[in-house]
Amino acid sequence: MSAPARNTSTTITKPATWSAHWSSLRKTLSPTPRRIQLVCTLAVSAHLIHLVASACSQILQADLGQPAALTRSNFMSGFGRDLILIFIGYWLVFGWGVAIGLHRGISHRRLSSQSIGMWICTYLGTLSALGRPMEWAIVHRVHHQFSDLPDDPHSPRHSGFWRVFTNTWTLSPTQQRHLAKPSLARDLITSRPIQFFQRHYWSTIFVTWVILFAVGGIAAWVTLGAWPVVLSLLNTSIINAITHRHGEVRDLPGLALLSLGETYHRAHHLEPSRQNYSGQGRIDLTGMTLDLGDQLQRAFMILRKRIRPNVSMSAHVHGRTSAPTTATVQSVPTTQFPNFNNAHPHSRKEVIS
Ligand SMILES: [Zn+2]
Ligand SMILES: [Zn+2]
Repeated sequence: MSAPARNTSTTITKPATWSAHWSSLRKTLSPTPRRIQLVCTLAVSAHLIHLVASACSQILQADLGQPAALTRSNFMSGFGRDLILIFIGYWLVFGWGVAIGLHRGISHRRLSSQSIGMWICTYLGTLSALGRPMEWAIVHRVHHQFSDLPDDPHSPRHSGFWRVFTNTWTLSPTQQRHLAKPSLARDLITSRPIQFFQRHYWSTIFVTWVILFAVGGIAAWVTLGAWPVVLSLLNTSIINAITHRHGEVRDLPGLALLSLGETYHRAHHLEPSRQNYSGQGRIDLTGMTLDLGDQLQRAFMILRKRIRPNVSMSAHVHGRTSAPTTATVQSVPTTQFPNFNNAHPHSRKEVIS
């Protein structure tokens, strides 16, 4: 997978460089980190077999009254500890990295482009190995534009259910042309966190995995490195393939808690720019986390304003602070990004400019 052009923030805004950048970016769109996903899947499969085998072994020994039987201390030092680490890795990488970061934060601009929150969530999203942040967001924006139509990059109806589910869909020349429109990513390309992780994608994953291995050995890498990759991939497969399976987007409320609210997919297509889909019987953990972040940010700004009355609150809202900002969409003129937040299915006739 070749890296996009190494443009700087001062040159990428020039029209001539846009063209060069997008020519380069287009070549990087199809390949996803499938080798990483394959390695992680093999590691997770082996680990799963080990967990089941050790659980069965302890249960059998409990029946026989042996010392290695399933007790509370054995559980917490064995597969119970692994399950907790897997949950933490999943929550951080899928919840914060994909659901909050790549999806709602970057693709739908619920995070301020230069904020600490954007740095953290883009880093965690990179660890999901679902693709570079800019490509992920652009593909998703095109998906909203053309959902369930032939130009949808990953429509089960047009690309095939299993190709979408296994994440092996490829882009047609027409789809690649849609993806190569600079207007889809003017806000992304000037974001320093996105620039950084776009350029240092592989090294970020590799260094993080080396640190995990150095600190906790193979167990830390499997639980906090490989498992989150596989679970993020599985969630994405379910959302892309099953919620769009018959060419009509639908919700999967039964999986909403596990997907942290991301399977309220019909609601999302109807109101893509909405932050929280909770209500009417829905529990959207991702949206609730974003709302909580907003409230904490407001409280932080009010407190800071009282301590330092001369500090402009708008400076924080516009992401020029180290506060972990979330809902700062209003800082970006909506007219600058005209189409990707359109609601489904009324956006179908819209054409990307
Ligand atoms: Zn969709
Ligand atoms: Zn979306």
